[in-house]
Amino acid sequence: MASTSDDTNRYGGNTACVEVNCGDETLIFDAGSGLRLLGDDIMKRVARDDKKDIKRKRLNLFFTHCHYDHISGFPFFAPFFDKKTKIDIWSGHLTGKNKTERMILNYMRPPFFPVGPEVFSAKLRYRDFEPYDKLSPVKGVKVSTLSLDHHDECVGYRVDFDGRSICYITDTTHTLGKPDMRIIEFARDTDLMIYDGTYTDSEFPAFSNFGHSTWQEGQRLALSANAKRYCIFHHRPSRTDKALDKIDQQAKAKFKKSWAAYEGLVIKV
Ligand SMILES: [Zn+2]
Ligand SMILES: [Zn+2]
Repeated sequence: MASTSDDTNRYGGNTACVEVNCGDETLIFDAGSGLRLLGDDIMKRVARDDKKDIKRKRLNLFFTHCHYDHISGFPFFAPFFDKKTKIDIWSGHLTGKNKTERMILNYMRPPFFPVGPEVFSAKLRYRDFEPYDKLSPVKGVKVSTLSLDHHDECVGYRVDFDGRSICYITDTTHTLGKPDMRIIEFARDTDLMIYDGTYTDSEFPAFSNFGHSTWQEGQRLALSANAKRYCIFHHRPSRTDKALDKIDQQAKAKFKKSWAAYEGLVIKV
């Protein structure tokens, strides 16, 4: 859930939303409350491009799953209200049970939300896939997927572009002492692994059925996979800036290129 307070200002309290730029193409992962700020930023860039008469590009938005912390920003994404924007919306966690369009219609409807997606003026396209599918959202960008260990299903992503890659693996749990070999293989030699570090190893036994993992498990997986960089993501809502500073330091002490994610963090690979 979003966690805004004086104690979380520096790392930021918005929920999951990650932008991945591949050349001129923009991929977005998850529509948590952070999506609103990203939308505002994209519209500023669009205004700059308009001045330069640069052709409007398509956006691709991928859902890992639709727990509230990954969808709550969806109705507040400014590019949805721009009729010149084209946006593909992807999900694969509900295979056989639901479709991407239905998921959005179910979320944006009374009594949960006052209006439906018909208020958007952008050109939306709903895309469905199955976990482990390989996707080609735009030319030159390969997106691999895998199923994660989370309640209600969840999908992890790997983006490969121009000889570089990032992995976005959040909302997954682990078994103590038994590394998830599927994730290690999936993230093999990646330039950046973003991972669900909700808990610490010492907290984990009390929360092992919550569907989340620990920042230390993520680091172990990243090192086993020979990942070049590691980003701790999906912080526990009660985690303060001070506590995250400590985690960031501990993570860097073991693997220098580690970060506790903060809002606006940019990592170039
Ligand atoms: Zn979740
Ligand atoms: Zn989540």
